[in-house]
Amino acid sequence: MIKQEFLDTEITYLQGVGPKRAELLNKELGILTFRDLLYYFPFKYIDRTRFYKIEELDPELPFVQVKGIIKGYYTEGHGPGKRLAADFQDETGTIKLVWFKGGKWITGSFTPGVEYIVFGKPGVFNGIVNIIHPEIEAVDKLAERINSALQAQYNTTERLKNQFVTSKTLSKLIGNMLKQIKVKLPETLPSYLVTRYKLIELHEALHKIHFPANPDELEKARRRLKFEELFYIQLNLLRFKTNRNLKLKGFVFASVGDNFNNFYYNNLPFTLTNAQKRVMKEIRKDLGSGKQMNRLLQGDVGSGKTLVALMSMLIALDNGYQACIMAPTEILANQHYQTISKLLAGIDIKIHMLTGSSKKSSRKIISESLLDKSLNILIGTHALLEENVQFANLGLVIIDEQHRFGVAQRARLWQKNLNPPHILVMTATPIPRTLAMTVYGDLDVSVIDELPPGRVPIKTMHFTDSERNKVFGFIRNQISEKRQIYIVYPLIKESETMDYKDLEDGWDTISRVFPAPKYCLSIVHGKMTPQNKEMSMKLFKDGIAQILIATTVIEVGVDIPNATVMVIESAERFGLSQLHQLRGRVGRGADQSYCILMTSDKLSKEAARRIEVMISTNDGFEIAETDLQLRGPGDIEGTLQSGIPFDLKIADLGKDGQLIEYVRHIAEEILNLDPLLENSQNLVMRAELKRLFNQKQSWSNIS
Ligand code: ADP
Ligand code: MG
Repeated sequence: MIKQEFLDTEITYLQGVGPKRAELLNKELGILTFRDLLYYFPFKYIDRTRFYKIEELDPELPFVQVKGIIKGYYTEGHGPGKRLAADFQDETGTIKLVWFKGGKWITGSFTPGVEYIVFGKPGVFNGIVNIIHPEIEAVDKLAERINSALQAQYNTTERLKNQFVTSKTLSKLIGNMLKQIKVKLPETLPSYLVTRYKLIELHEALHKIHFPANPDELEKARRRLKFEELFYIQLNLLRFKTNRNLKLKGFVFASVGDNFNNFYYNNLPFTLTNAQKRVMKEIRKDLGSGKQMNRLLQGDVGSGKTLVALMSMLIALDNGYQACIMAPTEILANQHYQTISKLLAGIDIKIHMLTGSSKKSSRKIISESLLDKSLNILIGTHALLEENVQFANLGLVIIDEQHRFGVAQRARLWQKNLNPPHILVMTATPIPRTLAMTVYGDLDVSVIDELPPGRVPIKTMHFTDSERNKVFGFIRNQISEKRQIYIVYPLIKESETMDYKDLEDGWDTISRVFPAPKYCLSIVHGKMTPQNKEMSMKLFKDGIAQILIATTVIEVGVDIPNATVMVIESAERFGLSQLHQLRGRVGRGADQSYCILMTSDKLSKEAARRIEVMISTNDGFEIAETDLQLRGPGDIEGTLQSGIPFDLKIADLGKDGQLIEYVRHIAEEILNLDPLLENSQNLVMRAELKRLFNQKQSWSNIS
């Protein structure tokens, strides 16, 4: 058996790859080593057992192969459009073959009247079916085709194709390499796993993924490779968690004291929902356990996470510690500050707010009172992470609505302390279970799956631009019933200037339809100063403005119970999870709320599906699942970067949910028996983890 390191051999040493090709492969596909090429998996397979008849061909078909004869060559067009063409015929009809370059080589290689196999993607031009740049093969070559009926197709780039590195070339190179590596490729899983879970060996899987003889072989190869990919991600996350528990002590918050009781019995304005009670129990158990809490709190918008955060902080205070909340925007930090100050009215607890725009003077006060312990709760934005923010005894950190806050960033928080504080991550983005297992795989999860009582489900409606007047009428009615309205415009980084134009045009229209002094409008967008933003928000919050026109800055967390209508302009441009987040801004009081999705008259199939889903359900988890299926996980708010340090090569977090659960369970069992992976049969996993992940970086935060 050869060693894994052998696969680190540079690709230049492969037969058929010189320095020039090596550079090209590296630049275009990131392929540097034998391993890179071996793990450059096909994106699809073409069944080359099937032959089509020419009369069956239509441009809708993917790649096809046809047996027939070339009738004769001729040229068409002139200038840059000049091309070589040939009529190609079988007993059922004729198609045209077309070449824009390499004509001389073609006419010299393939003789009219001889039978050939032609392979390519059918198209159509001037009503005639054609194949552009077909692959042509002599019929007697059929027998010696690499013993693979399913032909692997590899992604290539324009530049590669221009340098004659096609999908077929890559297939040949990989074939060469497998021949060149005569010995067996080293196994990356312990053999007891391979046997127990009925996997094929890595060596076989890597051959079959590139050259499957039939669909069954291909399936087995895919299963083995996906298993391995997902298994190591889970093993890595769980090992991180296991080690953290072994090495770190958490502060013990043994008791509930005056702050908590005072609040609970005197200030709490309502009874907790059962879900809130259950989650509080889970958190209290963590806080008293002597282990460091690392918990994710998931709960749909409006489910009452803030209260849970506050009560957890009060327990920290009761045990002599400080606590902080970090929010993603100033608006939200400010809102938390307001809400929590109000909830704590009459209780002697000192709270401060710290954001990027905090003045030097208040920073000084904050610094001092953090160190002399007179400050109990600090609420803010990423400014909390700045080096000069030093707590005397930080016991609990709450991270609100920050999906991108991964393992590494969380670990950075510990450096604020000698000992790690407890950490509670809160999110209203309902992440599908399996995705959460990967992105937040090292966290324990609590879910608030119940809204406070008395909420009326939001009604969602769809209108197109041509029905705008109806919508204005509806808004007018709502305002006459003293309700408030949000109107939101998309803001996408790439087309920011155009988007702001839309916002301005919108503002012009709305202020014409809803003129002062009868109506008062307010506007919030990302280009405003924090002070102006705050003023506009206040205008709306205090009920003076009836309509708030905004970009997506209001997406998360803003809580104004009297706002009952959310109008989303150009709704087709938003993703599902964003639409759901925005809708969650209304429906916070006891009144019927509405979400109005405005779109242009023509919609793409996908956009129409998103609108349909929004109308049919209010369930965030259902929406998240659909989103995952429609878009694939890569897009889901860039969540993935935080969980996985590399691109997945074969598994799909959207589609392989069951397998993720399966391998996670297996990884758990292994770590239960051998937390440090010290048994000789497990050493191979340790080596593989080391190779796959930059362990050094993550471990330094622990030891
Ligand atoms: P989110 O989970 O989106 O952060 P919030 O914490 O902002 O939700 O709560 C949404 C609203 O529900 C707030 O106005 C809050 O006061 C209210 N609320 C929270 N818990 C309860 C409860 N148990 N009963 C009634 N209202 C509640
Ligand atoms: Mg919230």
